[in-house]
Amino acid sequence: MADVYNWQLGRTIPYPYPEAHPQKQFAAVFNINRCIGCQTCTGACKATWTFSRGQEYMWWNNVESKPYGGYPQHWDIKILEMLDAAQQKTGKPAQWDTTQTDAKKPYGTYNGLTIFEANDPTQQALGYIPNDAEWRAPNFYEDTSTAYKGDNLGISTEGASLPEHQTWFFYLQRLCNHCTYPGCLAACPRKAVYKRPEDGIVLIDQSRCRGYKKCVEACPYKKSMFRGTTRTSEKCVACYPRVEGNDPLSEGVPMETRCMAVCPGKIRMNGLVDIAQDGSWVESPQHPLYHLVKVEKIALPLYPQLGTEPNIYYIPPRWAPRAYLHQMFGPGVDQALERYAAPSRETLAVLQLFRASQKMVFRYEIQEGPLVHEMQIKGKPWQMYNDTVIGFDSKGREIARLPVVEPIHERPKERLNSI
Ligand code: SF4
Ligand code: SF4
Ligand code: SF4
Repeated sequence: MADVYNWQLGRTIPYPYPEAHPQKQFAAVFNINRCIGCQTCTGACKATWTFSRGQEYMWWNNVESKPYGGYPQHWDIKILEMLDAAQQKTGKPAQWDTTQTDAKKPYGTYNGLTIFEANDPTQQALGYIPNDAEWRAPNFYEDTSTAYKGDNLGISTEGASLPEHQTWFFYLQRLCNHCTYPGCLAACPRKAVYKRPEDGIVLIDQSRCRGYKKCVEACPYKKSMFRGTTRTSEKCVACYPRVEGNDPLSEGVPMETRCMAVCPGKIRMNGLVDIAQDGSWVESPQHPLYHLVKVEKIALPLYPQLGTEPNIYYIPPRWAPRAYLHQMFGPGVDQALERYAAPSRETLAVLQLFRASQKMVFRYEIQEGPLVHEMQIKGKPWQMYNDTVIGFDSKGREIARLPVVEPIHERPKERLNSI
């Protein structure tokens, strides 16, 4: 085992291969607060990649209702319980030390076991293979909330207010995280799983795979799936032809993936970030993902404690209990939500770029506009400006231009009744 640095955990972790980083990393930010659970993303992936025999049960992208839903069923509860059982044996609690933070460890240091440390010595990573029943339906407990406290008419007697609702659920959008230290890659005895040096996309070489399912077992997010008809495992391919700029619509520049580009809720932003040799993100303050993840830190990794350094980031839901969110997104939750609830002038403009173009935005500029609104948020003054944000593709061409205040178009009198 080599020691590799995981910035999300603020420390090194053991990994079967020495540290090696791609030049760019495929990444995305999902704003959970905006998701309407429409599953358009899920259908787009299915229609593009998994419509063939043997792939019927595969949902490389899925959207599950938390806290009860999951695909496969109970995937996160199961791996967290396994991790906890290993942790209990050490006699020490798994804790985050947030007393010291800096650019190399923005959330402090995680002192618990990861899947690479809690495993039995014969395994590369802690994991399990879901049984068939757990894969039987992609959307268990859809829209099921926690217990509702109403009167005999089912009407709430207490109402609800932020920061936490008594009754809650939220949608969690999931696909392969194209992890920096993938569990699937660590566990494959055939070296069939690889991470591309040009964009960090994690793929399974179908000609090398022998279907041992070690990747299915070791992916803590359960995003590697076995196909019975070919006896090989498959997973999200990050729509690599689009990312490479080879889609006919892309005009030679990287495009966002199918599941990202179709999202009607405008919750998803996909991109490529520059990676330095030591694995850190190259400073790029006008890259929208860099701004959201590294500067404002309002988008957080999913279950960072698992240790794979996932590259899909989430703006947490504002109304769910904080303890649940801390477990799911780590110690950055409180600051992320505070900043999201009262966004800075720049963040408010950057948030407009979600789904503004099918092409990936590599840089943004902001043109300052007038002050349009002033209010107090949590007792502090907050101003809103009608700035204009402009997005540029990888060749520096303008691909999006949006004002913070959405324009209102009034229908002319003669067309009052038309759509
Ligand atoms: S999410 Fe799972 S399948 Fe995807 S790279 Fe990470 S460990 Fe591998
Ligand atoms: S990135 Fe492409 S392959 Fe991966 S889940 Fe989304 S649509 Fe499917
Ligand atoms: S398409 Fe967008 S809004 Fe609809 S479920 Fe997927 S992530 Fe949510």
